[in-house]
Amino acid sequence: MRARLVAGNWKMHGSLVANARLLDALKAGLKQAEGLGYAVCAPFPYLAQVSEALSGSPIAWGAQNVSEHDSGAYTGEVSGPMLREFGCRFAIVGHSERRGLFKESDKTVAAKFSAAQRAGLTPILCAGETLEQRERGETENVVGRQLDAVLDAAGVAALANAVLAYEPVWAIGTGRNATPQQAQDVHAFIRSRVGARDRRLAGNVTILYGGSVKPENARELFAKPDVDGGLIGGASLMAEDFIAICAAARR
Ligand code: PEP
Repeated sequence: MRARLVAGNWKMHGSLVANARLLDALKAGLKQAEGLGYAVCAPFPYLAQVSEALSGSPIAWGAQNVSEHDSGAYTGEVSGPMLREFGCRFAIVGHSERRGLFKESDKTVAAKFSAAQRAGLTPILCAGETLEQRERGETENVVGRQLDAVLDAAGVAALANAVLAYEPVWAIGTGRNATPQQAQDVHAFIRSRVGARDRRLAGNVTILYGGSVKPENARELFAKPDVDGGLIGGASLMAEDFIAICAAARR
């Protein structure tokens, strides 16, 4: 059975006080579940706090970005080895906010993916189309291109230690989620794209859906055969919602 995962992306939210409350509630509410993992991806300055709070719990943690460089004169950047020192298991790469607002190219995303793996992190690679691209019928072209950029650079074998996330840009933070069937269609496309290079890995790779997942829509989305869990933004900041979404991912 493929591993399932629900990962929270806190984005640039939080404070020491608010995080402590959220982390306490998550620890109390999330219990070990067969075949299902949990994670929170926090802003860099809070990783020490998160690591202290979650050590020994069933909840892993990670970062929302990582430098493509391992060390050096790169002011303001944070490297994979630094994230490992804080116990991070995951690093999100290629989130649409990084691609769109910070102009990260497919090539940069691929370099970050490899940098995360070099450091022993599991990259959560995001891919997704904008509304205009969907309306022009370009979803598969865009998602395929974003995926291929990484597979060409890192090799398909790299997916043995990676998580993929389909995140339609038009569904992120908008309250408008993809329908379960829309999500399933793109997830199946991603799996078959990977399968053209390696069938076994395609069957094993975890593919998350992200984009306005809420307790009310999670179960239906996660019931689709190629949807292996979720990458959760806004709802991951509310303990009750995140716990309910995690419960919906249990098989
Ligand atoms: C995200 O930030 O990856 C995301 C999916 O956000 P939201 O759940 O708020 O749409």
